[in-house]
Amino acid sequence: MKLRKSAIALLSVVLLAQTLSACGKKDSKGNSLADKPNKLTVGIKFDQPGLGLKAPDGTFKGFDVDVAKYIAKELGVKEGDITFKESKSAERENLIEKGEVDYIVATYSITDVRKEKVAFAGPYFVAHQDLLVKSSNTKITGPESLTGNMKLCSVKGSTPAQKIKDKYSKAVQLQEYGTYSDCVDALLSGAVDAVTTDDVILAGYAAQHPGDLKVIGKGFSDEHYGVGLKKTDTKGKTAINAAITKMIGDGSWEAALQKNVGPSGYKIPAKPAVTE
Ligand code: GLU
Repeated sequence: MKLRKSAIALLSVVLLAQTLSACGKKDSKGNSLADKPNKLTVGIKFDQPGLGLKAPDGTFKGFDVDVAKYIAKELGVKEGDITFKESKSAERENLIEKGEVDYIVATYSITDVRKEKVAFAGPYFVAHQDLLVKSSNTKITGPESLTGNMKLCSVKGSTPAQKIKDKYSKAVQLQEYGTYSDCVDALLSGAVDAVTTDDVILAGYAAQHPGDLKVIGKGFSDEHYGVGLKKTDTKGKTAINAAITKMIGDGSWEAALQKNVGPSGYKIPAKPAVTE
């Protein structure tokens, strides 16, 4: 009898502990994003106008933000239950692997090297590497015009920086910063001659400095933007692919681009096919 009583007491302690831990934890920390999470932490950029931007009032704006919200809605999560976390280029794989974000929508190109660590859904957009220079610059007309006395800024852990190292490292001095907004400040102050990353990102900065900065407009790569998530979450990837396909199909994708990217003058591209 005594034994039974203590067994019941033990059982109730175990049950209570389980309930408490389930309350504090989000479901998505379980196995899959497809398993009805009740809240989400989503990685975005904080400094890329038109794409992922933290406004002075603490709100978040941009095409990536709208894609992130659409996916959350399809996963059953209300907008108020999303926490946005800054995900700089070099930190993205790490943030996903450590579980510090549930997924990332941050101008994140799908590459085989990154796929060794994370999975991608998408693509949801295709951009092209380009160059941003001062409007008065007539010497830089494309990557082939870069010379050894020029300083070119890009961001650590990004595909554009890698491309410069692989293909143009002899032609130019690459400076790797932590964010593109730091590169743009360096360009405005004259510390560097050009900034390189995806055209859609550069268009946002050029629009912030009309008359001072221009995008060259000779794309020299294809950057397929994916939504990064845990490598093992196959069900979550399928669910995010379905959300992206729905967003493209129901007109929300185009509307989000017109609203966020349209004002920079960037030409809205054709709808991508979701192939991941
Ligand atoms: N899309 C490129 C990349 O994923 C450049 C933009 C970025 O760094 O976010 O590396």
